[in-house]
Order: sequence, then structure tokens, then C-alpha cells
Amino acid sequence: MTAKLNARGDVAVLVPAAGAGLRLGPGGPKALRLLAGEPLLVHAVRRVAASPSVRLIVVAAPTAEIEAVRALLAPVAPVTVVAGGAERQESVSRALAVVPPEVGIVLVHDAARALTPPAVIESVAAAVRAGHPAVIPVLPVVDTIKEVTPDETVLGTVDRSVLRSVQTPQGFRHSVLAEAHAAAADPLTDDAGLVEKAGLPVTCVPGSDLSMKITRPLDLILAEALLHLPQ
Ligand code: C5P
Repeated sequence: MTAKLNARGDVAVLVPAAGAGLRLGPGGPKALRLLAGEPLLVHAVRRVAASPSVRLIVVAAPTAEIEAVRALLAPVAPVTVVAGGAERQESVSRALAVVPPEVGIVLVHDAARALTPPAVIESVAAAVRAGHPAVIPVLPVVDTIKEVTPDETVLGTVDRSVLRSVQTPQGFRHSVLAEAHAAAADPLTDDAGLVEKAGLPVTCVPGSDLSMKITRPLDLILAEALLHLPQ
């Protein structure tokens, strides 16, 4: 069934899905790889559309796949599809350009975090609504972390209690994200990183194990197992 978005919602979700996904091995753009018979992008968009605050979803697709992505998502939810860029940041900027100014909150998600629960999407949006200019979902770091030299000699052990793994969606006041992108110089920085550089506070909320980034072939196997957990 096609989801209905909330016309009174205050949230736009951008889903950059234009990456090649080479680390997942050969087989086309990552967002279109199958997980339990459906593309990752379909899983991701279905969960975004199930989030009650979401009014608009914008997907940045590989240029060659725009029509295919439109057709793929039409039965899932009403989605605007734009052409992605060479870098993730450019894909995000192109998606952001079609968000009307009256939508106050913009979340930037990854198609690769296909199983992110709607509750996480809502809690990021709620923290922005509560007044934080930028919000990221995070998990504690569980491994011991070492700092090493280029020849792999250990320099020291990092205090992991002050470290966090960062997930998506990252949430922003619309104007904050627009200004950060307009000023962006480094294409490798994540969206929250752009806001940090602008000197604004970035606030953490709890992420979820289900928001794992599907990057390597093993992740597809893990994600398939997670699909069977109660969501
Ligand atoms: O490559 P990586 O896993 O970091 O990509 C994260 C997300 O950004 C993926 O959903 C990918 O499709 C998207 N992306 C994009 N445009 C690019 C590169 C990545 O939309 N040029």
C-alpha cells in the first residue's frame, strides 16, 4: 500500500541514494541492491514514510536511474526524485534545493541505513523542534580504539567513553543546513560536520542497532537477520 505523508508535517527527509556502493562488490548502485527481495532504498523510504512528522521525501538518485527510481518508489510513498551528484554532499545539496522554505526541519538520511526505525527519525526531528540547530543519532563505541602510526605501530589507547559512532538521519533547522551547505568547502565532511565548522552546537540523541550502514557483503547478511526482529 502506498504510504500517505503528513501534509501538516514540519519535516523534509533527504535520502541521498546516488552512490556506487563499490565496497558492496559488483552489482549496480548500492541503494538498489536487494535485501530480502527489495531494494535497500525501498526499505529506507518505507520507514521514513511511516514517520508521522514527515511531509516531504526527496531522493537523490544516480542520473541514469532517475526514472527507474521514480517507478520503484511510486507504490511505496509520494517521493520527489532528483539527480544526485558526484559526491554525497552534492547529492544532498541538490535534494535540499527542492525543499520549500516553509518546511522548518530537514533530515538527511542514507539509503544505506535501510532499517532505521521511524522512532529514531521522530526523535531526531523532535530534538530539532525542541530548539537544537543540529541533531545526530549516535551509539557508544564498543571496541577498544588505538591510535596508530602510518606503519601500524600503536601510539596509544583512546578513551572510548568520549567517543560516539554517528548514524543518520542527521537533523537540522532548515536554514542551518542551507547555510552550512552554501559555505561548504570540504566534500568529505558529513552534514553535521559542516554545521560544526560553522561553530554551531550539534546535539546527540540515542541511535539504534537497526540503523547499521549496509556497506559490505556481510552487512547484507546481518541486515537480513535484523529484518526478522520485531521492529
Ligand atoms: O558511500 P557511502 O556509503 O558513504 O554513501 C552514503 C550514502 O550517500 C548512500 O546512501 C549513497 O547512495 C549516498 N551517496 C550519494 N551520492 C554520492 C555518493 C553517495 O547520494 N555521490
